[in-house]
Amino acid sequence: LIHHPVVDKNGQTITAAVTALDLHDIARAARTYGIGAYYVVTPLTDQQALVAEIVDHWVSGFGASYNPDRREALTMIRVKSTLEEVVTELSQNEEVKPQIVVTSARMADSDLSYAGLRDLNRDQRPLLLLFGTAWGLAPEVLAQADYRLAPIRGGEVYNHLSVRSAAAIILDRLLGEA
Ligand code: SAM
Repeated sequence: LIHHPVVDKNGQTITAAVTALDLHDIARAARTYGIGAYYVVTPLTDQQALVAEIVDHWVSGFGASYNPDRREALTMIRVKSTLEEVVTELSQNEEVKPQIVVTSARMADSDLSYAGLRDLNRDQRPLLLLFGTAWGLAPEVLAQADYRLAPIRGGEVYNHLSVRSAAAIILDRLLGEA
């Protein structure tokens, strides 16, 4: 989940604040679908401290005994300052660079269907799915993509899913049992 660089409603590049809901809900979805890791990317050290505080509460603090299931989800979270740090860590762990797939509701020039995404996942190279915050991933992030995933479409007009909903839907289309 990318908090910088993302764009605001005017298309300006900003750094979005971390939302606790995004940590919990996407971690639970990631654990449910057996994802390798859930990276939260923000360059702001106070935001990184906030994430660490929330994760510590549920992983080693009171929350861990209060709700072990939630603990199991939040242990998925890894905090990084930049997308490059994520790619470097994954490349070292997996001994191959991950295939980067970007997502957006506005992806006019998408080049990857959900069937294509499932095929990609079968060919063993690790997949890194990028989700944005605020008004979406900044152009310089989209430019790093190997693939641009087709937007989730409900109807023809309204399309403003939260990143939590979008992540869950995409993970289910990728890994869910039909
Ligand atoms: N509508 C903008 C967009 O999708 O770029 C705003 C961003 S939305 C609040 C935050 C993130 O949720 C997006 O960056 C994308 O990762 C994901 N997302 C939202 N709607 C989506 C859709 N219809 N299809 C795929 N991803 C979506």
